[in-house]
Amino acid sequence: MSARPCLVLPLLALCLCAAPQLAGATPGTAAVAASPVEAFKTAFLDAYWRQNPDMAVAMGNYRYADRLPAPDAVARKADLAFCDRWLRQLKAVDVPSLSAQDRIDLALIRNELEGNRWALTTFRSFEWNPTQYNVAGGFDLLLSTEYAPLETRLRTVAKRLKGVPAYYAAAKASLGKPTLEHTAMAIAQSRGAEGVFGPDFIQKVEGSKLSPVEKKALLAAALQAQRAIAGYRAFLQGLESRLKTGGARPFRVGKELYEQQFTYAIQGDCNGEQLYRRALVDKEKLLVKMDELATQLWPAYFGAEPAPADRLERIGRMIGKLSAKHVAADQFMTEIRRQLPILERWVTEHNLVELDPTRPLEVRETPAYSRGIGGASFDGPGPYNPSAKGFYNVDPIEGTPEQKESFLREYNDYTLQVLNIHEAIPGHYVQFLHANKSPSLVKAVFVNGAMAEGWAVYAERMMLESGYGGNSPEMWLMYSKWNLRVVCNTILDYGVHVQGMTEAEARQLLVREAFQEETEFKEKWHRVQVSSVQLSSYYAGYSAIRELREDVKARRKDRFDLKAFHEELLGYGGAPVRFLRELMLP
Ligand code: ZN
Ligand code: ZN
Repeated sequence: MSARPCLVLPLLALCLCAAPQLAGATPGTAAVAASPVEAFKTAFLDAYWRQNPDMAVAMGNYRYADRLPAPDAVARKADLAFCDRWLRQLKAVDVPSLSAQDRIDLALIRNELEGNRWALTTFRSFEWNPTQYNVAGGFDLLLSTEYAPLETRLRTVAKRLKGVPAYYAAAKASLGKPTLEHTAMAIAQSRGAEGVFGPDFIQKVEGSKLSPVEKKALLAAALQAQRAIAGYRAFLQGLESRLKTGGARPFRVGKELYEQQFTYAIQGDCNGEQLYRRALVDKEKLLVKMDELATQLWPAYFGAEPAPADRLERIGRMIGKLSAKHVAADQFMTEIRRQLPILERWVTEHNLVELDPTRPLEVRETPAYSRGIGGASFDGPGPYNPSAKGFYNVDPIEGTPEQKESFLREYNDYTLQVLNIHEAIPGHYVQFLHANKSPSLVKAVFVNGAMAEGWAVYAERMMLESGYGGNSPEMWLMYSKWNLRVVCNTILDYGVHVQGMTEAEARQLLVREAFQEETEFKEKWHRVQVSSVQLSSYYAGYSAIRELREDVKARRKDRFDLKAFHEELLGYGGAPVRFLRELMLP
């Protein structure tokens, strides 16, 4: 249920046709006679892409795609110098006379630089998170995005491949004492990473117009890359067995790091502890509402049987009953694909937000190298290549028959619709359509995670408010369970990382008090061990957007138009809601 759990979203893109822009063109910065602040933004972004070629590729900018810098101490020193240099330059252009739009752009750049600085000097996950070393995504994008002829792309891949052995050597040297949880996940993902250079890749190379000599060199380099990845896995396996006997870093980040990370990642109007307290209040409000719905529905489903006296049991049994309505495992993807046009029609007919039928959306299995977080996710095209395809990734349903059943009960006929709203329409997919039209490239690039997740969660509720689901108590109850999940993500995240919540306590929270299926609990418990703050971004953004909408409504009164509000909100790209408030309620 994520648009990728990191500060900046790495985006996968695949283009159907030749992209109208030249690779590396920078839409939105083409203005003639640029003002000092425009010139600064353009120069900064170009320098930023040079410094972070992988992220550039993810954004659809291929200018530096042939580079694969080794993530070693020298590179980190250069990154730090980069942050300091640009923070100094930023001070010079940050003058009081700037427009609100420009001020926000600069604030986003400053947050990015200060956040990176903090990550390099304080958070230091390069020492303890082996999943951050993974070359697969970048190569996969270059191979699958048709931004240039295949031969051009393969030559870029060939140059880049030369860096892989040094890349993993640097990774090994950088890791000190990782957490066991990140180590296990990196081991699993490395198998998927090797697959990027498997049979499909070989076929692509063989079928290309490269010369026989080039083909031979490319395949040899790919084999060497696979060996480097396998070597990294062997290294991690060795490390894992040593760490199991002691010395692993605890996965809980603790209060200090948590609050600091929260500041940079959420960019909201409160700190982690305040959000946690808000979540506790909202949890109780939701339970009251859910109890009303469960009580109302009870006789229709249980006849004369008296409802349990215990509130949680009452709600839980009603939800359990409704969860039995679900598709078969082999119909899951088919059902998702079936529902998307229905959602499209609803959104258009109810005037909720503008869609763009020319921008393709593909439902696919999550690529193996990026599985292990979330269950479902959306990969949108980057702002430099906005006409590329968006991917709705679904993890394959695996496990024992009991596990599959548990998963399908969680994603039942009611909540699967909410998932589709969240990931696709009018959630993440629609958000990308609009963000990529943002006149500000900076806002489209430095997407705030809380805004991204907040919009998708807000979209769920907004759809139900528009009457989607027929206003049935069943749909509202199941939606409320889903919304309670968002609220509990925050309680879990803060509880685990700051308050030392145990697995048993987490199970009590999610299974007993939030009615989650066992598979969902397991997935969440894993996720909270390999991420911090990200789980709170959903609720942070959602509550901020709802509050903003109500305030805008109150201000605009009769002039308030829901569709216009949505488009205004999405038109600012991924700027944090706090800044959108400044723009929309001056
Ligand atoms: Zn999401
Ligand atoms: Zn069943």
